[in-house]
Amino acid sequence: MAPAPKQFDYIVIGGGSGGSGAARRASGWYGKKTAIIDAGTSGGCCVNVGCVPKKMTWNFASINETIQKGKEYGYDFSKGYDFDFTTFVEKRHARIKTLNGIYEGNWAKEGIELIKGTATFISPHEMEVKPKDGGEPFRITAPHITIATGSFPTKPEGIKGSEYGITSDDYFSIAHLPKSMIFVGGGYIAVELAGVMNAIGVETHLFIRQNTFLRKFDPMIQDTLTKHYEDAGVHVHRNHPGIKEVIQLKGGKDETDPRDKELKVIMNDGTEMITNELLWAIGRGPELRDLGIDKTGIKLNEKGHIVVDKYQNTSVEGIYAIGDVTGQAELTPVAIAAGRRLGNRLFGPPELKDDHIEYDKIPTVVFAHPTVGTVGLTEPQAEEKYGKENIKVYTTKFSAMFYDVFPPDEKKKFPTQYKVICQGKDEVIVGMHILGDGSDEAMQGWGVVVRNGLTKKALDDTIPIHPTSTEELVTLR
Ligand code: NDP
Repeated sequence: MAPAPKQFDYIVIGGGSGGSGAARRASGWYGKKTAIIDAGTSGGCCVNVGCVPKKMTWNFASINETIQKGKEYGYDFSKGYDFDFTTFVEKRHARIKTLNGIYEGNWAKEGIELIKGTATFISPHEMEVKPKDGGEPFRITAPHITIATGSFPTKPEGIKGSEYGITSDDYFSIAHLPKSMIFVGGGYIAVELAGVMNAIGVETHLFIRQNTFLRKFDPMIQDTLTKHYEDAGVHVHRNHPGIKEVIQLKGGKDETDPRDKELKVIMNDGTEMITNELLWAIGRGPELRDLGIDKTGIKLNEKGHIVVDKYQNTSVEGIYAIGDVTGQAELTPVAIAAGRRLGNRLFGPPELKDDHIEYDKIPTVVFAHPTVGTVGLTEPQAEEKYGKENIKVYTTKFSAMFYDVFPPDEKKKFPTQYKVICQGKDEVIVGMHILGDGSDEAMQGWGVVVRNGLTKKALDDTIPIHPTSTEELVTLR
């Protein structure tokens, strides 16, 4: 007779930021017997191949940008200066290893059992786990199960040789800079990674299939940032016809050093380009591989994401899903917040029985060059929702004080631009869009403004902080 399945109060599948938030709330706060099953490296995408190494790389690139700008202030680099990308990558790896340990340490401290392995449903509340270390598979069960398996970067189907390109997962294994690199896509990932490579001297090509990138953002951000990338030296291929074929001319199949790699990229219009590396950043798919989701009867949407209601309930009782696997606002803090609130609702005191997150008015930042931040509705969305006659849009465009010592033509290349969208006679702020140095740090506060339905008058009543760029946001006319 098969041994009885291992019993928990709560099982979380996936040890990324969302899964960790969910499990820690259940175990650390409410003392539930909790397990995390994780097939990868603790911390998931954000820690290992997402937010954390991306931001560290953005910091690395920003130093080089500041050095370049320092020349305008009279700093003399005529004798040259150098940097060592490989040393930085080693330090970045070390930091991530530390974070992996911190995640596991927190889980252990809070009594969460970490099971390293792959979980596959065999029925709605029972799973088979294949341990990562090759040990004997075993069964596991709980009345409450949360799927927090995240997403994975996709490669296009139907393009010959697409496998010779890499994705953002592989990007963080690059330890030596290529001479030239192509990024395909116009979302967060392509814009962020193309931006850092350009800033550290790689010949960077960005293939976008429309006239601008970041198409889900306000037109102001799309237009200004796309133009700024061109001014900064990124070869933005607007309205790109698409890639027909990728041929590997040099380097092995699994070549990870782009210096030893050469690709011939043939476009749909017959033109060709030779490059060292190509990165697909064309979106992410829900991570359901190996999960045996068909054994649960859980409903998926047309894109394959798990359908959930506002409480993160799937269509099967006692099974919940949070984060990227649900396809809603694929952002780390959203997954964490959803996991924590779900824990409150399932295991917390009666006053939290309705806890859930709201998916509108989520502030977000793209770590571009410069950074951009956004919260709430874009101008076209606000017009559609309230009618053009019921919204008022305030904008400003200027050059930040930092660039005052730059020659006028150079100064123009570093715009700061803000937009505040208000609705109704009280001018409730329904959208804010900011672009320019420091927007990443500033955005959190503006998120609070929009989230809490403040009005334009609240901005006007606030004393500006001088001299800053964002003081312009409380003096808009
Ligand atoms: P996005 O969904 O943001 O963007 C995908 C891009 O790929 C779009 O520009 C789209 O173009 C383009 N595209 C899609 N299919 C093709 C194709 N066949 N050929 C060429 N281009 C194509 O995906 P990302 O991969 O950039 O990022 C995934 C998610 O990760 C983001 O939505 C975001 O939520 C999250 N993320 C957040 C970050 C942050 O908070 N700073 C950083 C990185 C990721 P088009 O516009 O023409 O449709």
